[in-house]
Amino acid sequence: MITADIIRQMPKVLLHEHLDCSLRTSTMLRLWEKRGFDSGESDFPKTVLMLWQKGEREAAADAFQDYLAAEASRSLTGYINAINHFVVPLLQTEENIRLVTQERIADAVADGVSAMELRYAPQLSTIEGLSLAKVMDAIVEGVESSPIPVNLTLCCLRHENGQVAKSLADIALSYKQVTAFDLAADESAFPGVLDWWLKEADRVREHGITPTIHLGETNSVSDADIQKLIDHKIGRIGHGIRILENQDEGNYCFEVCPTSNVTTGQVKDLSQHPVNRHLQEGRRVALSTDGTLFNKTNLTNEYWKMHQTFAWGMPEFQKILGNAIDASTFDQNEKQRLHKAVTEFCSVTK
Ligand SMILES: [Zn+2]
Repeated sequence: MITADIIRQMPKVLLHEHLDCSLRTSTMLRLWEKRGFDSGESDFPKTVLMLWQKGEREAAADAFQDYLAAEASRSLTGYINAINHFVVPLLQTEENIRLVTQERIADAVADGVSAMELRYAPQLSTIEGLSLAKVMDAIVEGVESSPIPVNLTLCCLRHENGQVAKSLADIALSYKQVTAFDLAADESAFPGVLDWWLKEADRVREHGITPTIHLGETNSVSDADIQKLIDHKIGRIGHGIRILENQDEGNYCFEVCPTSNVTTGQVKDLSQHPVNRHLQEGRRVALSTDGTLFNKTNLTNEYWKMHQTFAWGMPEFQKILGNAIDASTFDQNEKQRLHKAVTEFCSVTK
């Protein structure tokens, strides 16, 4: 009998989560209070402010999360605006970056995550003067005290260009904690496997960093793009829910984030999510959150929803966890340790 608590205890591996989409709303409100709620950068919902000022902190944090989730699910523009207005201004000091990194890891540990890859576009934190290196130092400091292994992924954003990608590739190569190099953001406005990103992805791959790409999340994927993935040995795809059966020759690992796809309106509800078909047809699926803030989720919750919607049990969980471990950027010793923990857990709780 599978319960949410058993799933929480399962030693789960998280491959795909954005730091800027995974803050605690209680922390956000505290940091906003320090910064000034009426700094002109954000238009705080009145109910949240009222509760916060009355000292009802928990209720204010909950109302804020409801508000942000609603904004994010309104439209892609609403989602991006919510990040830009409410999150990005808080990530402009080393102290805050370090804090949210530490908190995110603590929450993942409480969620039963045994190893995680955390991703961020550090250029978002350079708006008020921090250098990329200072941003990275703060994240690395946040990771240093982690009780679980945490690797970092740097994200190029689709609306950027080769210049930005080059500086991100340079910075990725100078931090041993960075093990993956991603392309993220608005696929519908800037679709496909972008050549300026590919050039830098090739460069970091030669130094052992794994390129990963958000693809097939909002758009179908052309055969030319599939060929690029094969030619450039890109084996990890964020979402990939629109990639077709006959396009899977690369045997990719799909970092599927079911709730996120519902939030952004890509899938009407979970029962219609292709993740179950992907798994049944033998594709390499791994479950992730994409982010906890706007999706109001965590990894336990994603697994639990798959159990409730598609009756996934231990065999399915063991399979997707194995996929996540194999596709991860952890070293062979770490992978062996993670595999062993999963096998032991699943055999005891079968
Ligand atoms: Zn993502």
